Amino acid sequence: MDLHFGQYRLKLAERQLTGPEGPVELSARGFDILALLLRRPDDVIRKAEILEAVWPGIVVEDNTLQVHMSALRKALGAGMIMTVHGHGYKFTGPRPVAIPPEQDALEPADHEKPHPMFNFAGRTKPPVTGGCFCGEIRCRITAPALDTVICHCRMCQRFSGSAFSIGSVYPSASVTFTKGQPKYFKSSPFAERGFCATCGSSLAFRPSFPPVTPEWDGWILIDTGSLDNPFSIVPLWQLGIESQMPWLDLQVGSKRVRCQDSPDVVEAWAAFGLPVP
Ligand SMILES: [Zn+2]
Ligand SMILES: [Zn+2]
Repeated sequence: MDLHFGQYRLKLAERQLTGPEGPVELSARGFDILALLLRRPDDVIRKAEILEAVWPGIVVEDNTLQVHMSALRKALGAGMIMTVHGHGYKFTGPRPVAIPPEQDALEPADHEKPHPMFNFAGRTKPPVTGGCFCGEIRCRITAPALDTVICHCRMCQRFSGSAFSIGSVYPSASVTFTKGQPKYFKSSPFAERGFCATCGSSLAFRPSFPPVTPEWDGWILIDTGSLDNPFSIVPLWQLGIESQMPWLDLQVGSKRVRCQDSPDVVEAWAAFGLPVP
């Protein structure tokens, strides 16, 4: 998946930026920072978050980030990256648009690199099929996953009856229930969870309509365990770690985030005047 903004294209697989005059030279860290900013164009990304994503586990000098930022600004030109003093940085250039790769260019997805939300790294080539335990509901997915996440939050624990949930996010238009339909339960003011009314299998999670924020729209998460071939799907990060079972130690994914530190989750609850539960 590439990200296109204005006259630029960030090729994530090739780790290359091209502009109106061809390839633009970036340092490896500069590339990672730009990718992080482009994936969340609506957010101010905190300095600590950038350091954690781009230099995971490494203590870096105070001015290192500034050096990379000024090199990035020089490469892209003025007006693309804004400093929000005391907070962090925000991408302010033309809105990035994700460009789907050719199907045969999907593999191998790299799940080793830092992955902010919606990293476009699906490891399974579509179409993907799945359904509930009893067989009354079947589904078919025709696009690659946008993201795959483990969630340890209490709501996921309660709904799954297990320690955590795992699911992949897909564009909603790419998911068709070819037999039966899940029954949906409104699990929060802005989202609902789908299950089989006959066998109870947990199948899906989707934003309610109307969407609470622009981010909560156009996608559906399908539970990994409901797929016919779940074995090639690798979770890319972990959410809800404030509720993680104390005995669990999952060595998977590039980051572990508390729900109250996820801007998308915080904003959704805040829209209803509620804190993250
Ligand atoms: Zn069923
Ligand atoms: Zn959850």
